[in-house]
Amino acid sequence: MKRAVLEIDEEKIRENVRKLYRFSGKRIIAVIKADAYGIGAKEIAQILSDMEEVDSFAVACVKEAIQLRKQAIKKEILILGGIFPEDLDFIEEYQLTPVISDHEHLKILGNRDIKFHVKYDTGMGRLGFLNEIIKDERIIGVMSHFSSPTNREFSLLQVKRFEEMVKHYRNVQKIHMESSAGLIYKVPFTTHIRVGLAIYGEKPLKNYPIDIKPALRLKARIISVKYVPEDYPISYSRTFITKRRTRIGIVAFGYADGLMKSLSNKGYLIYKGKRVSILGNITMDMTIVDLSETDAKVGDWIEIVNEERSFTALAKDAGTIPYELMCNLSKRIERMVLKADK
Ligand SMILES: *Cc1c(COP(=O)(O)O)cnc(C)c1O
Repeated sequence: MKRAVLEIDEEKIRENVRKLYRFSGKRIIAVIKADAYGIGAKEIAQILSDMEEVDSFAVACVKEAIQLRKQAIKKEILILGGIFPEDLDFIEEYQLTPVISDHEHLKILGNRDIKFHVKYDTGMGRLGFLNEIIKDERIIGVMSHFSSPTNREFSLLQVKRFEEMVKHYRNVQKIHMESSAGLIYKVPFTTHIRVGLAIYGEKPLKNYPIDIKPALRLKARIISVKYVPEDYPISYSRTFITKRRTRIGIVAFGYADGLMKSLSNKGYLIYKGKRVSILGNITMDMTIVDLSETDAKVGDWIEIVNEERSFTALAKDAGTIPYELMCNLSKRIERMVLKADK
């Protein structure tokens, strides 16, 4: 029955959160927007919901937040991606916390009894007020976002600009700026960190100072194995021609599952720790690999991402970032949480 599975290691995820907490000394706003970066917000929220280190959750929109409330998530849920007039009733009903970053958002709120965070654009060039002070009793948080955490000089400029604004908010409970990569700046005046990627075990920087552990394994099954002769074309448009008699395997995982077509003829998958090259074009539901050096048979599992090969490494091969690759993981991949022994 199972053709493709994403395994989520509960204990690794929880351990990563503890490490992020220990490093920063700040409680965590766990970013689980876009279905927890394609991993599965339901699964991730379940894993994190009883953790003391996790203060709250952040999603992009009201629809994502309602899904979490419907699965009995009780912690604060921050809406990062703006609000529209028709969201208001839901925000009240489900007790959600919008981020306000535009005067139009304030107008939409009117005088409803809704607590919110205010966002500052300190150099991201996306959402946020530039340098206006918003005076409103309902403000419970102030936030900003790094645009280029690998650039120390610009990041410190953003920190300085944010500090100037934060000064004007004496009574807010939460001040947050650091994302997974931004954590390295240890901003002295923030109270929380707002992280996604690192929780999931992907290091956002080469020399990341926190020893987070891979928590995801992506695998798919071989649905056919056969020999094809020398000089034989493989897959659409015949972009690969065999140089010798070749034992090929057809893996039940294609670009519809999230394997970027740019990996055609260039990436590799993994069979029992051994690299097997991708041959020819990746297709919608299937990918062809070279199994000549293996004894792999129909029904066996091929790994796409594992402890040794991260989404970050695969994304690099595909010419993209792990965020994009992960967000493309299709809904038809089964999510399996490997339970921690508690
Ligand atoms: C996605 C997002 C984050 C989390 O970033 P990571 O790099 O995954 O830690 C934090 N803040 C905002 C505003 C975001 O959009």
